[in-house]
Amino acid sequence: MDNQWFQLGYLVSAGFFIFGLKMLGHPRTAPRGNQFGAIGMLIAVITVLLETDLVASPLLIIAGILTGTIIGTWLAVKVEMTGMPELVALFNGFGGAASALVALAEVYSAVQSEAIPRGLELHVAWSAIGLSALVGWMTLTGSLVAFAKLKGGFNILGKWRRFPTWGPPWLNPVKAISVIAAIALIYISVITPDDLNIIWGLIALSCILGVILVMPIGGADMPVVVSLLNSLSGIAAAFTGFIISNPVLIIAGSLVGASGLILTFIMCKAMNRRLVDVLFKSFGGTEKESVTRTKVGSDPDEVAMILDGAEKVIIVPGYGMAVSQCQHQVKEFADLLVEKFGTEVKYAIHPVAGRMPGHMNVLLAEASVPYDQLIEMDEINPELPEADAAIIIGANDTCNPVARSSEGPLAGMPIIDADLARTVVIVKRSLSVGYAGVDNDLFYMDKTMMLFGDGKKMMTALNTAIKES
Ligand code: NDP
Repeated sequence: MDNQWFQLGYLVSAGFFIFGLKMLGHPRTAPRGNQFGAIGMLIAVITVLLETDLVASPLLIIAGILTGTIIGTWLAVKVEMTGMPELVALFNGFGGAASALVALAEVYSAVQSEAIPRGLELHVAWSAIGLSALVGWMTLTGSLVAFAKLKGGFNILGKWRRFPTWGPPWLNPVKAISVIAAIALIYISVITPDDLNIIWGLIALSCILGVILVMPIGGADMPVVVSLLNSLSGIAAAFTGFIISNPVLIIAGSLVGASGLILTFIMCKAMNRRLVDVLFKSFGGTEKESVTRTKVGSDPDEVAMILDGAEKVIIVPGYGMAVSQCQHQVKEFADLLVEKFGTEVKYAIHPVAGRMPGHMNVLLAEASVPYDQLIEMDEINPELPEADAAIIIGANDTCNPVARSSEGPLAGMPIIDADLARTVVIVKRSLSVGYAGVDNDLFYMDKTMMLFGDGKKMMTALNTAIKES
């Protein structure tokens, strides 16, 4: 087939990626954006298969496609909404590793067949291979650590152990020296291109770098890490695109790299952090605090009575809503308030609520909550002092007033100002801490009513109480 047709195939698939990415920017168009991305990838895969003379090993290709399809379908069907962040972390890692493996295969076959390029071509190819190895392997091990942290621990012989957040002060110089050493190894690999030991050394160092970069980051800063790893997996793919001269891999990798980086800076802004501080200051390195204070719980009838006649109620969803999957009961609650009491209801969306960017928007959209009721933190905060009640459903860190102080894992993180509402109702199972491991003074305020219990059970009971009031 003519080379121009392949270029056209790559161009069309790149177009689908770009328009798909644009559509992902709004919840209404996001599902269509996802489909566009999948169509783009299908076109890219078919074009690559036609362009490369892969007909020589059709069995291998069919086996690869089948294995990928079966694992992908199984994961998509099986994964719970609450397990999505861990899955995304794993995908980032595998994406980085796949790019790094292709780079390794290229260098290996060039050395074995003594077809090492010379001159400028050598410099470009071996630099790209080195960078792909550095970023790809670092992304794999960093993502595996992020996966274990998001999962809350790891399993040894059937027993779950909490994943440590470890970052002694001397680790920062080690990180800096490792980065410099990795760049030096890339340089050495360019001047001794036939020495595979340099590449193995680079791979080992990159794997260690991934672990020591992510290990100290904990508490509330994980969203920044997950989006950064996402960006790195794209950058590794773009480098590999240069190595195998595949334009669509360069474009797709650059799109993932750039959009992941934008998301990283959005997350940094949401956390009021600088990226360099997240990577080197380790805000989150604390053990979970043990809770010693007590608070008497309220019951749904009492809360329903308080809400009777409320003019304005702001719902603050968090990770617990995702765990209990109570978004439909939350929507019913909002509808009941509007119908029975004529209340104005809005939802306060914190950018890092839940365990992945946009987590709350996805869940509430699934329950058909109108988009215009989902209000971003900066916009809703001025409205909280005039709200009759803030109803917090499974949120904790994202409305913890301790974040306004200058110490601890949450220091400086902007929060939903739920404590400024006239009454605060919190639905959660206990007084335990949130993801960052910090106790929350909001639970113990006089105006706070705690509804202890699973989100779904409590919201159902609250809805019944409102109907009967
Ligand atoms: P938190 O993780 O701070 O708190 C969630 C609360 O939900 C817990 O305190 C828990 O309390 C409660 N909960 C758990 N299960 C249930 C249930 N079945 N029913 C009712 N409540 C339940 O949530 P936030 O959303 O406020 O904050 C998100 C945190 O996660 C932030 O620290 C953020 O940085 C971090 N993070 C965010 C990511 C992102 O991309 N959005 C990625 C990684 C981390 P109890 O056990 O008492 O019920």
